[in-house]
Amino acid sequence: MPTKYIVILGSMMSGLGKGVVTSSLLKLLDLYGYSALPMKFDGYLNYDCGTMNPYRHGEVFVLDDKSEVDMDFGIYERFLDKDLTGDLSITGGKLFGSVIAKERKGEYLGVDVQIIPHLTNEAIGMIEKVERTRKPDVIIIEVGGTVGDIENSYFIEAVRQLALRHPTVFINLTYAPSLEVVGEQKTKPAQVGFRLLLQSGIRPNFVVCRSEDSLTEKARQKLALFANIEENRVIDDSDTRTIYGLPLHFIEQGFDRLLMKDLGFSRKINRKRLEEWKGSVNRILNPKKSVEIAIVGKYTGLRDSYVSVKEALIHAGSKLDAGVKIKWIESDGLEKGDANEKLDGIGGLIVPGGFGKRGIEGMIKAIEYARENNIPFLGLCLGMQCMTIEYARDVCGLKDANSTEFEKNAKDKVIYLLPSQRGVDRKGGTMRLGLWHCKLSRNSVSYRLYGKEKIGERHRHRYEFNNKYAGVMEKNGLVIAGTTLDKKLVEFIEWPKGFGVGTQAHPELRSRLTGPAPLFLGLVSAALKKKSEKV
Ligand code: GLN
Repeated sequence: MPTKYIVILGSMMSGLGKGVVTSSLLKLLDLYGYSALPMKFDGYLNYDCGTMNPYRHGEVFVLDDKSEVDMDFGIYERFLDKDLTGDLSITGGKLFGSVIAKERKGEYLGVDVQIIPHLTNEAIGMIEKVERTRKPDVIIIEVGGTVGDIENSYFIEAVRQLALRHPTVFINLTYAPSLEVVGEQKTKPAQVGFRLLLQSGIRPNFVVCRSEDSLTEKARQKLALFANIEENRVIDDSDTRTIYGLPLHFIEQGFDRLLMKDLGFSRKINRKRLEEWKGSVNRILNPKKSVEIAIVGKYTGLRDSYVSVKEALIHAGSKLDAGVKIKWIESDGLEKGDANEKLDGIGGLIVPGGFGKRGIEGMIKAIEYARENNIPFLGLCLGMQCMTIEYARDVCGLKDANSTEFEKNAKDKVIYLLPSQRGVDRKGGTMRLGLWHCKLSRNSVSYRLYGKEKIGERHRHRYEFNNKYAGVMEKNGLVIAGTTLDKKLVEFIEWPKGFGVGTQAHPELRSRLTGPAPLFLGLVSAALKKKSEKV
């Protein structure tokens, strides 16, 4: 059977949740027993997300194969529970880079290289390569940005042409704002979006409409009329309490059946797996227990910077039937004044990843507080590095312990740059990236949580635990719970007492609703246990 295509285009404005719609459709296809792969186009001219600031663009997501991609890939993986690859991400930078490289090689000798057909053909080529090499039943292409942007115009032209060669379903995600004064959902901006789309030569097969409250009949009729489609093809995507509920909301509206019909698919939905998904969603919405976990980080102003950490807590909470309330604490703010006051009463602590010196001392203070008050703690990458510094300073008496990232000439460089990283001056793709395997020691908390000795987690960092200090740290109780398979790099450390685990990896990047990350399960259950002991 030839691969079918679904293309998701947004209009009016960004931030409507195209990633969640794409992921919900991936999930539905998966529940119907069809293999589906997402592809994402981003219009920026960066080659990938690796050099972007999480404060502006949100979290940089890392895949097993070392690709640094848009955070939408995180949503796809969390819904689909599959490891994706970097070839599914197409950026403006990749496209232009590849066309220019071909031009220099003389592949277009004698012709003037143009947006159409050269850039558009390049895009189609990248998409068809995925079809050829992976042969999925469906490829869902999410087009970043909105219709009418200059940045994605050539890509929209490419998907229009793609539909001439392959069976393709177009979905337009739009928005119907409600003005309080008027008290009704307005569709005019969406209509302008339809016009732009039609001008690009694309007629949507479905319109998915975001709105605060459920879509009114009147708004649905208008949207259908102006988009040139039947009313049952206008799908409500009003605010839900959890994004994981969207596939279920689509099913309630019969969107799944219409879509399968359009794709020419006849299989039935897998009821058992659907019920499992419903169960997970239900436990997010109506948990029996609750716990509060503090995240002390440096980008807490933009929650998207830590989206995978936030979602991993939701996954663990769903599995343990507990609502996890997150208390966001900006680490800068802990540096001055009484940190204990701000941390008082938290059920658990996470110090997530990050770069640069700002806010570090606040993170270290928070870790000290957790260790001394027996509060369950999880340190992720930078968080593990801060855990090392805190232990060296406060337990081992190495008062000037630091990472050379923050203090180049620190007396005790407990975290340092590996010699192999020292000469690196190129920034893109040069960190320790992607999936690394690790061997856990059998008597560690981490081993108990993972349930096996050899595990794999994703990485994105330059600095490492300095083995020179392993001896003194271990003598003072710190447990080195896991190393790379060649034993050269420390991957997991643990406090000798209570729940305190630090990992150089980013386990949050592999957490899924149907398969929560073991360390997050460990943290949340330790926090729940501590809470129940208190009562
Ligand atoms: N800045 C640290 C390093 O480069 C930690 C990075 C991270 O937390 N991802 O090693």
